[in-house]
Amino acid sequence: MRKTSLERFRALITDEKERVDKSLVKHTKIIHHEGEDFGGDLAKAHSNHMADQGSDEFQYETTIHFATTEGRYLYQLDQAMQRIEDGTYGKCSGCEKQISLERLRAKLDARLCIECKEREERDRY
Ligand SMILES: [Zn+2]
Repeated sequence: MRKTSLERFRALITDEKERVDKSLVKHTKIIHHEGEDFGGDLAKAHSNHMADQGSDEFQYETTIHFATTEGRYLYQLDQAMQRIEDGTYGKCSGCEKQISLERLRAKLDARLCIECKEREERDRY
């Protein structure tokens, strides 16, 4: 990938990391708060959830899920940033071809080109 493109992606990933980071902090606070409402006893909160499908607990669980997904995404963005530093960003880890810029723009943390991604998904099912 050309240096100018790498620099552009570096800026995009930096922005994206900042955005995810902020939303992660916000949601981690909500989890902490909800945890206090349950007396910090997560196991008890979970068993209550089985008995009573309360909306608070529903929110509690989706919040955890969201934070986990966002947390994982943040990690992927860190990895992508590392590849920018190494100069390997945008190279498919399957076939080592250049991943299209359109694909990278849509998915900044993409590690596989479209062909390899589709093959991976076919193999999974
Ligand atoms: Zn590939």
